[in-house]
Amino acid sequence: MRFRRAEALILDVQPLGDADRIVAFLTREAGVLRGVARGARRRYSRHAGQLQLLSRVDLQWLEKEGRELVRITSVETLRAADALLASLEGVLAASYLAESVRAFAPEGEPQELLFRLLDSTVAALLSGVEPALATRYFEVWLLRLAGVFPFASPCPGCGGALAAGSRLVGGGESLVCASCGGEEGEAVAPGALRFLAAAARSPLGQLAGEGVTETDLAAVERLAAAVRRHFLQHELRSYEVMMRTLGTV
Ligand SMILES: [Zn+2]
Repeated sequence: MRFRRAEALILDVQPLGDADRIVAFLTREAGVLRGVARGARRRYSRHAGQLQLLSRVDLQWLEKEGRELVRITSVETLRAADALLASLEGVLAASYLAESVRAFAPEGEPQELLFRLLDSTVAALLSGVEPALATRYFEVWLLRLAGVFPFASPCPGCGGALAAGSRLVGGGESLVCASCGGEEGEAVAPGALRFLAAAARSPLGQLAGEGVTETDLAAVERLAAAVRRHFLQHELRSYEVMMRTLGTV
């Protein structure tokens, strides 16, 4: 048995029986873990108000050898996500970010960079950055960190630059330059290529001031969704809900 303590971002909270909750969370050191918070469904539980989607918490838990679920022993909120969860668009974005992390991060592996990405994306959303811009930035970086889509590297076919005319080939497998792509796959909009280059070099807060248009963001979204679906072989539920609800794409 081992007690552990770390900063965590809450990824999911579900009821378990009458009194408990099952919680998924992301830490730098131990990656994604799932645990039981006993009594967290009770009205006066000290855990109840602390377990909120995407809040950053100081979490303590108990691990037992061979057990898939840890036992959460203490939760203290360091940064609440109330302001994000107060709007429908914010709730949809929060669910999508959290489900994306769970789809791409295997449980129990250290995730320093992914923690930083999610943490800084939530901070940007809380500071008023547009959800559409923040989620596009997050999803292209998530695909890059997961090793699925190294968007800032040169063309994998010839090592040349990924300039205008680049194409997404193999049903979302890779992005290649115009001469390697030929007629294959789909042309990628210049605005999406500009966004990928900017996202590779600038933090999200800086990108917010660079006048990225809605058309650029829609093109990035189509590209990222194609790459993600090719890799996962399915679409994320929270993404489908977000699309249906907001009526975009
Ligand atoms: Zn090429």
